[in-house]
Amino acid sequence: MATTTSRTAGAAEFVPEGADLAALRRAATGCRGCELYKPATQVVFGSGPETARLVLVGEQPGDVEDRQGEPFVGPAGRLLDKALDEADLAREGVYLTNAVKHFKFVPAERGKRRIHKTPTRGEVVACLPWLRAELARVRPDLVVCLGATAAKAVLGSSFKVSERRGRVERVEDQDVIATVHPSAVLRAPDRDEAYRGFVADLRVVRAHLG
Ligand code: SF4
Repeated sequence: MATTTSRTAGAAEFVPEGADLAALRRAATGCRGCELYKPATQVVFGSGPETARLVLVGEQPGDVEDRQGEPFVGPAGRLLDKALDEADLAREGVYLTNAVKHFKFVPAERGKRRIHKTPTRGEVVACLPWLRAELARVRPDLVVCLGATAAKAVLGSSFKVSERRGRVERVEDQDVIATVHPSAVLRAPDRDEAYRGFVADLRVVRAHLG
């Protein structure tokens, strides 16, 4: 996984050692490892069984997730559910989380809408101790990085999803595969084609799990 070199203080001092997922989730509510906690509604920690064989890592919570406090419950989450189902992967058996645990946004020029803003490398690195702690606890057979932010967090900053998606990589004794983020499928000019590619990558995941 990417090394921890950050200009922000980082989450490390807030992560309790040896804690289970429930204790990690509680501790994350008090994280001040970077500035993103300030405008966000709440922390959105990972969700799913500690025995999951599969961990999916997205970028950060979106607007709906920030309000509800759970990952992948907005439009991208609905698309993910459908794709997981088509690839014969049950969401109940998957641990879902994000590389960054607070929603980063800018207010829309008009109205109350909040526009997603990509986290900086420093913010991603600051938040990495939480993802490391989740992975150490779940110890999945496979980690799936959804989109560039998650892939760079786990596989290194030079990783390019467009060139290496859908291939199982080995990083620090962990099998990892990268694909696109479901929100990128929603935004794609040819959504059907993007969706087919996403499901094809998830079928590689299914085959790898056996
Ligand atoms: S984004 Fe991560 S490091 Fe920053 S305050 Fe939230 S939980 Fe802590």
